[in-house]
Amino acid sequence: MFYNSTRNSNVKVSSAEAITQGISAEGGLFVPESIPELSLEEIKAVGEMKYADRAAYVFSKYLTDFTEAEIHYCTDNAYSTKNFETEGISELAHLFDGTYMLELWHGPTCAFKDMALQILPYFLTTSAKKINLDKKIVILVATSGDTGKAALEGFKDVEGTSIMVFYPEDGVSPMQKRQMKTQEGSNVGVCAIKGNFDDCQNGVKAIFTDDSVKKNLEDNGMMFSSANSINWGRLVPQVVYYVSAYAELVKDGEIELGDKINIVVPTGNFGNILAAYYAKHMGVPVNKLICASNINNVLTDFINTGVYDRNRNFFATVSPSMDILISSNLERLLYLMTGRDDAQIREWFGKLASEGKYEVSADVKAKLAEEFCAGYCDDAQTKETIHSIYEKYGYTCDTHTAVAVKVYNDYKAATGDTTKTVIASTASPYKFSAAVLEALEGKTSDIDEYDKVDKIAELSKLEIPSALADLRNKPERFSDVIDKADQKEYVLRKLGV
Ligand SMILES: *Cc1c(COP(=O)(O)O)cnc(C)c1O
Repeated sequence: MFYNSTRNSNVKVSSAEAITQGISAEGGLFVPESIPELSLEEIKAVGEMKYADRAAYVFSKYLTDFTEAEIHYCTDNAYSTKNFETEGISELAHLFDGTYMLELWHGPTCAFKDMALQILPYFLTTSAKKINLDKKIVILVATSGDTGKAALEGFKDVEGTSIMVFYPEDGVSPMQKRQMKTQEGSNVGVCAIKGNFDDCQNGVKAIFTDDSVKKNLEDNGMMFSSANSINWGRLVPQVVYYVSAYAELVKDGEIELGDKINIVVPTGNFGNILAAYYAKHMGVPVNKLICASNINNVLTDFINTGVYDRNRNFFATVSPSMDILISSNLERLLYLMTGRDDAQIREWFGKLASEGKYEVSADVKAKLAEEFCAGYCDDAQTKETIHSIYEKYGYTCDTHTAVAVKVYNDYKAATGDTTKTVIASTASPYKFSAAVLEALEGKTSDIDEYDKVDKIAELSKLEIPSALADLRNKPERFSDVIDKADQKEYVLRKLGV
């Protein structure tokens, strides 16, 4: 399996090269040259395996330059109870009639990002070895809160790497900020940006594609790579849990092999839902992919009209990991939907950069309508949903997951579709404790963040994840705050080049 770039189909690299480079030199994203297929029998067989082996099975179709031993080295180290609080790694909660919560937050940082970022460092160091790269790998991350912490935990003290994380100063939850500021490890750095997530991400992308910076690093025995979902090594682990969830439903007798399911994903950068799209096109029987957004609803409008327009107000919401107006991974979807037309992608994404807006062709609009549904909700509706699920089912979900539940409920009411449905549950409710507690109690409370956690524990009967409980006594190590214009200079200074 080779990988092409969305902005130049003639680029052809191995998975080890795609993973170490992160983004293609001309700014495109790497995509596998074809989507490997799984038969229904193979999917069923996957259900009999433990999670690490399910992952290895899926990876063997994409990372064909890795040996079986290399793949198992990665999966066995990443997906164990050393890092995850449950045996199953991801858990399916059978809660509502025909509706299942795919809990992806039992890892060390309590968000679904761990599913990919626990394994990415293994992929990256294994890839570097395979292609005889003797450079230090510098990971730059732009985060809306969860990726940053998950990447820091994944890469801390990993030999041959260092990691620097940028987050929007006022765009993350207090718990997320605390998690990052207290990060341990000798090769880590954390810095706040006076701006929003898109500013952080644009800054990182600009540094990645700056030739003089690249040369400077090379001269000093270093190279950049990415832990954002622009890196294929971030995306492919996410395909696994959709295959796994389907196999699990078959195994549990909830569905018959071959039955279709819907998948609902609370979406920001379009990575998680793109992984579901890949799972579908590998052979997982899927009816609709339902894209759920908060009030930053650029994706809802895009899927419903075919016009992507980022020229709109940006809102800070109670689901901050979805406060994004430029969804990077859409580029991969459109590359596939245009039949891998790199010229078309260059045109649209050129327009996005210059005018903040583009409109896709009628053909692509039809494809979007066939595969996707989209909806959004505001903060008040998000909190109402947390409250009503708790009242009805005794289940406590986080703010992002609640957006997905609300959009799904609206979809169901509008269409009458009774297809069994998997909702991606992307974070522990403890991570967004202020909003979750307010939703549960129906009123705001001025107790501190940790007392809120204790209060949620009392109400939800959910165990407090040890990683969050420990935060209380950790010293803060990082307090830098910079202007977005200074990101490049900051990086070079910190690297000493
Ligand atoms: C990152 C994140 C999302 C959005 O996922 P994308 O892959 O960016 O679409 C949703 N919920 C939570 C909790 C997240 O951390």
